[in-house]
Amino acid sequence: RKTTSAQAEKLEDGEVNPFTNKPFSKKYKTILQGRRKLPVHDQRENFLSLIQSSQFVVLVGETGSGKTTQIPQYLVYNELSHLKGKQIACTQPRRVAAMSVAQRVADEMDVVLGQEVGYNIRFEDFTSPKTFLKYMTDGMLLREAMSDHTLSRYSAIVLDEAHERTLSTDILMGLLKEICKTRKDLQVIIMSATLDAGKFQKYFNDAPLLNVPGRTFPVEVFYTSEAEKDYVEAAIRTVLQIHSNEPEGDILVFLTGEEEIETACREIKWEGEDLMRQNKCGPLMVVPLYSTLSPVAQQKIFAAAPVGRPGGPPGRKIVVSTNIAETSLTIDGIVYVIDPGLSKQKVYNPRIRIESLLVSPISKASAQQRAGRAGRTRPGKAYRLYTETAFDEELLEQTYPEIMRSNLGNVVLQLKQLGINDLVRFDFMDPPAPETLMRALELLNYLGALEDDTSMTKTGRLMAAFPLDPQLSKMLIESPNHKCSNEILTITALISVPPIFVRPRGAEKPADAAKAKFVHQDGDHLTLLNAFLEYKKNERNPQWCRKNFINERSMKSAVNVRKQLLRVMEKKGLAITSVMGNNRFYSTIIRKAICSGYFMQVAHREPSGHYATLKDNQPVVLHPSSSIKSKPEWILYDEIVLTSRTYIRTCVEVNVDWLFEGTSDYYTDLSSFPNCDGKRALEQVIKYRKRSGDRKKKI
Ligand code: ADP
Ligand code: MG
Repeated sequence: RKTTSAQAEKLEDGEVNPFTNKPFSKKYKTILQGRRKLPVHDQRENFLSLIQSSQFVVLVGETGSGKTTQIPQYLVYNELSHLKGKQIACTQPRRVAAMSVAQRVADEMDVVLGQEVGYNIRFEDFTSPKTFLKYMTDGMLLREAMSDHTLSRYSAIVLDEAHERTLSTDILMGLLKEICKTRKDLQVIIMSATLDAGKFQKYFNDAPLLNVPGRTFPVEVFYTSEAEKDYVEAAIRTVLQIHSNEPEGDILVFLTGEEEIETACREIKWEGEDLMRQNKCGPLMVVPLYSTLSPVAQQKIFAAAPVGRPGGPPGRKIVVSTNIAETSLTIDGIVYVIDPGLSKQKVYNPRIRIESLLVSPISKASAQQRAGRAGRTRPGKAYRLYTETAFDEELLEQTYPEIMRSNLGNVVLQLKQLGINDLVRFDFMDPPAPETLMRALELLNYLGALEDDTSMTKTGRLMAAFPLDPQLSKMLIESPNHKCSNEILTITALISVPPIFVRPRGAEKPADAAKAKFVHQDGDHLTLLNAFLEYKKNERNPQWCRKNFINERSMKSAVNVRKQLLRVMEKKGLAITSVMGNNRFYSTIIRKAICSGYFMQVAHREPSGHYATLKDNQPVVLHPSSSIKSKPEWILYDEIVLTSRTYIRTCVEVNVDWLFEGTSDYYTDLSSFPNCDGKRALEQVIKYRKRSGDRKKKI
């Protein structure tokens, strides 16, 4: 028997921090009192006895009960990790949650973030050699497993938010099950916010369950009598109604994405301040929450609500958030929840191989979680902006696990790198559709990452070294052959971050005029590159981004991402060379390099003037934001976006001959291509190339 909770609590109650040997601060002691009131605290002893007798433990508890912040600390005190030289990892599906929780836990443990407690998300490692407790995205832990197959540096791994069933968490579950067969010293805790724990228990060899009883208050649920046409508008209206009529308590609104949230925040602020001037309501503080916000901006959701005049209407905090606030982050003081019943979800259609983010209806389970956020501190109210019939009849019980809705190219490459060759026999909790797996193998084979027998090639191993989608990593490792790796590095970084061009509502004209200065007629990748180069020249000018309608945060993260990719390139011995500035054919060279990774994503102009994708004859429209204004015959695209229409976005014009110049034989046999105009055009090209090739041979 190791540590008991009494022993651990004695250490926590002491005067000196056992991890830093410094006296505990006053703030620490205040926070500690709050922590002792959390529902998980009552279960500490139970938890310790379970993990001391079982390698896997499943833990279920309401959002806000203290799972994410407390359980990893219980493990730290149990093992006294700082003495053992091993780490404890707690995974999160979302970057924001990993960062925000790590900060909170550093405060709770009275240490500096990045020292004893740190976080690690893609492109950002905020840890030190001292770190023994690490919050990280599930994707990062999966990446670590690629170089350390037994995850040997960890003594315990907490898979948090397992109910979300993200792709990475699902794969990690299978991996950990395997690793634990040989590493009996590794402890695995699976945590979830929903009650559906049986499936997890069964999967992990009938693991014991610890159920943390919640302390929640009843939440009254309201539905609309008719379907809402404009859910953003309806949400704003509901916020203002609550703010002017309901007693004290903060409001949480669920919307689907950054733009929508920013717009809603602005309108709520305007109209709210208007109402305030008419003395119809108290002061309000409106805070957005979405994943690309800076950490400082994210912390604002925890600020206290403004106070109203004594005797007057109450002041209120209004948080407008994406799904992050559903279970990942707990905001205390929420009494009213507004739920339009939608979220952005990944949707994949393996037949046409399109993976995209679509605003889709949430599940019943999600709707229940959302409503639950209103009853954390006292009885609350949840306003569902849809009808009760819609809830009953249209919402699924659960969302399908992400593995069923994803393009698996990246995952298959990672699994191969992990040494898992037989994907069909891998112990998935829910196996992906065979067609999806096949598509992924096919893609990787065409990219030269896998042999025909699906074993990994040298190219594949090189590609797996980059935390990128296979097309991007292929383009990157081919770029030295085109002598433009410097430019391709920049382009890759810019594609991997949120959009750098902003086009605010009401300021479309000046935004477009600003962008026009960077536009390269050959396509968007080159336009992005131009903007980046100008930014670098003006990096010290604090006004430049705003004046040019450039999202500074995105640019900064592109600079950072670029730096990290460069490091991998150098480590792998890939040459770094430039063509811009010393070769007037730079645009052609760069576009050829892009082709070497993206040759499968090409659209052809039909005689009607419309475009269709080559591989599946899907009608598409060039995105209005594109720099391409002529109507070239062949266009290479980075992504397909499904909104009201099927757009291709981030495009360059290409020459059909370049498609044949790469290493792949994708276009040598067209028999499996759909019968379309693009195919006929290609056949002509092949015939012509063959003839001219034969001619050359004769000479
Ligand atoms: P769970 O993982 O079970 O949803 P958490 O461990 O995330 O719960 O949170 C437990 C409690 O810790 C919350 O209810 C809240 O009171 C507090 N808390 C968490 N993060 C913060 C923060 N950044 N600032 C203030 N309080 C926080
Ligand atoms: Mg949590």
